[in-house]
Amino acid sequence: MTVLYDATELRRELHPLAELGLEVSHTADFVLEKLHALGIDAHRIADTNGVLGIIKGTEPGPVMMLRSDMDALPFKNPDGSTVAIHACGHDAHMAMLLAAASRLVGKIRRGTLKLLFQPAEETLEGAPLMIKKGVVDDVDIAIGAHIRPIQDLKPGTMCAGVMYNGFAFPRVTFKGKPAHGSRPHLGANAVDAAAAAIAAVNGIHMTPDVHWTIAPTQIQSDGPMNIIPSVCRVRFDVRAKSNPVINELLEKFKRAVTFAAESYGCEAEINIGTVGPAPDYDPELEKEISSCIEELGPGILAPNCGGGGEDFNFYKIYKPSMRTAYFGVGVGAAPGLHDRNLHFDDTFLPKGSEIFVKMALRHLG
Ligand SMILES: [Zn+2]
Ligand SMILES: [Zn+2]
Repeated sequence: MTVLYDATELRRELHPLAELGLEVSHTADFVLEKLHALGIDAHRIADTNGVLGIIKGTEPGPVMMLRSDMDALPFKNPDGSTVAIHACGHDAHMAMLLAAASRLVGKIRRGTLKLLFQPAEETLEGAPLMIKKGVVDDVDIAIGAHIRPIQDLKPGTMCAGVMYNGFAFPRVTFKGKPAHGSRPHLGANAVDAAAAAIAAVNGIHMTPDVHWTIAPTQIQSDGPMNIIPSVCRVRFDVRAKSNPVINELLEKFKRAVTFAAESYGCEAEINIGTVGPAPDYDPELEKEISSCIEELGPGILAPNCGGGGEDFNFYKIYKPSMRTAYFGVGVGAAPGLHDRNLHFDDTFLPKGSEIFVKMALRHLG
């Protein structure tokens, strides 16, 4: 007997299971149980809580991976304790993918379908870990999806490409020389260097063709108010919608910070940290997703939208020959993603699930 999962029901079961980062073990158990109940060959990815389901066709063909994230977000309660809440809709993504899996059993004729449930999207550790475990080495096509906030998509509509930002959060430590507060000329003030660097960074110019932003977000110096500070730490938020632009932006950032610090006799220690890639989707796949959305009925296909970052884009950076796509599902999510009061109409999830099914059948059916 064929079991067909309902994405809406599954989402309601998954919602209270919310777990954080890599520690999504109950969620992994739930997903595994649902995949095994469908008779799908599924396992935990070695020493992780990631889950991989595999459906093989009997004829040669591509390896397609459909990917869902699994993790929730931490919020502080008034009593100081931390609670995990599915405030980014990853419960919805797992539900859509499991419902799709139940409709694909017995339908894969060519190639291989991989169903990846990935932990730790929010901490950006998940995709790099899956890559380390070899999960995407043989993948030719990878498709992901995310529910969208009401500001992006009207409930019941979908877009074929979620236009995420590439991002980095560089830390800079300015180092100068301390002095008595009344004798600033005898020292090198790290706060002066930081202020000059912030002004220099805010004066960076980049192409207006691609959306990009750069902003200081944290600043902190050490010591009492009557000593010229020798250390000042500044954090920046850097984003752009294309990888070449974010790389160029970071080069200009380093130059602006280094020379601004030098002009005050200080040194700037720059730690760029992880650079989260921007999307580099395959235009053909995006067109196919558009037509799958149109097949669902008139008025459902909406223009591409987006914001924020996604660790899914690490897969393409790791394996450039892989074709990727990532669609958005409008469910009226409000007040917005990453809000502890996030709520949305999960009765639209089966529509999102259908796109996974249609794309898998186009390539592997
Ligand atoms: Zn998120
Ligand atoms: Zn998310």
